[in-house]
Amino acid sequence: MGSTGKYIIVGGGLSGLSLAYQLSQIGINATILEASSRLGGRIQTIKGKKDTPLELGATWFSDIHPSLLEFIDELGLSKYEQYSKGISLFETKSFEPPQEFFIPESKNPSYRISGGTQRIIDTLAEKISRKNIHLNAKVHSLTVADDLLKLETSDGKIYHGDKVILCIPPELISKIRFSPALPDDLKQLLPEVQTWMAGALKFVVEYDKSFWRQKGYSGMLFSHAGIVSEMYDHTNLEESKYGFTGFLNGGAVGYSKETRKNQVLQHLKKLLGEKAASPIFYEDKIWTDEFVISGNQNIQWPHQNNGHLLLQKGFFNEKLFLCNTETSPEFSGYMEGAIRASTAIFEKLK
Ligand SMILES: Cc1cc2nc3c(=O)[nH]c(=O)nc-3n(C[C@H](O)[C@H](O)[C@H](O)COP(=O)(O)OP(=O)(O)OC[C@H]3O[C@@H](n4cnc5c(N)ncnc54)[C@H](O)[C@@H]3O)c2cc1C
Repeated sequence: MGSTGKYIIVGGGLSGLSLAYQLSQIGINATILEASSRLGGRIQTIKGKKDTPLELGATWFSDIHPSLLEFIDELGLSKYEQYSKGISLFETKSFEPPQEFFIPESKNPSYRISGGTQRIIDTLAEKISRKNIHLNAKVHSLTVADDLLKLETSDGKIYHGDKVILCIPPELISKIRFSPALPDDLKQLLPEVQTWMAGALKFVVEYDKSFWRQKGYSGMLFSHAGIVSEMYDHTNLEESKYGFTGFLNGGAVGYSKETRKNQVLQHLKKLLGEKAASPIFYEDKIWTDEFVISGNQNIQWPHQNNGHLLLQKGFFNEKLFLCNTETSPEFSGYMEGAIRASTAIFEKLK
């Protein structure tokens, strides 16, 4: 038998943790059940050989994301502009040299979090009592039992809550066994809500010097011809740790990790010179695991059914709520959407 909590939050990503944090501010200590062995969900910063913060998941935001900016401020975190000075590259064909272009200074720059996006998650986890957070606790069933909602997790524990908030992608909610069943219209909708960035293939690479900056390159590149489809400078705020992050084209999903790494380094060597072939660290991640996606074939376009009205309703007599970035009517899919979703639910619960 697990612990009993009045409010149970399922999912320890940005939406779940920001909701838990807001509740804690008014004295409500929610229990958080997280399926995987780490917090953050689609936010995952890893450290390179020289401790460079490297983003495998969410990275950028801008002035059009006011809720996130305010939240970052409240948590005492700092942001800095994505580096884009110098020559950027656009490779249209493998047999032609890349086109060079310059990104004009933007009135609306992209920002990154100093120390890595994971700082948001770590700071939230520090502010919410750690004892309320349960890892490796995948919820697989939810039963209405008298006045309470009963949750069963993969580690064999049972939790009872007065209110349960499912802060997980709607597609994954459709994998939970509900008793009684969810309303038919919701049941039909859930597996058809696209999870933003599910299936993406992101890579990070760390170097001991920013050799590209020294040669006048921005580190930004776009390619229709090689394995790297999009890439950005990933130097830290202090400009003491160096690397790139970017996306690989979808075809690379079928390659082994070693092949992906070799192909990325060959591609970068061709475009940025010999030094690109000798990083001190490489990692990549295919975002197709059970914590992001269920592999539903009914999803056909990006942001499909994101922010649908049904996702904002309460169920089982206002005891069950859905709350993650895909439920937000605005900026769904993005970190801004996750914060907005959690604030909307907080307003209902407080
Ligand atoms: C590669 C990539 C790049 C991105 N880049 C950006 C970017 O640059 N800017 C931006 O704003 N956004 C970006 N995003 C999107 C951003 O990461 C998400 O909007 C945000 O992190 C979503 O937070 P969430 O809490 O709503 O959902 P999630 O992060 O998906 O969190 C859900 C959590 O629930 C857990 N969970 C799932 N099922 C269960 C279950 N049954 N029981 C218990 N726990 C469960 C999961 O393990 C996960 O921890 C990116 C995403 C990816 C993958």
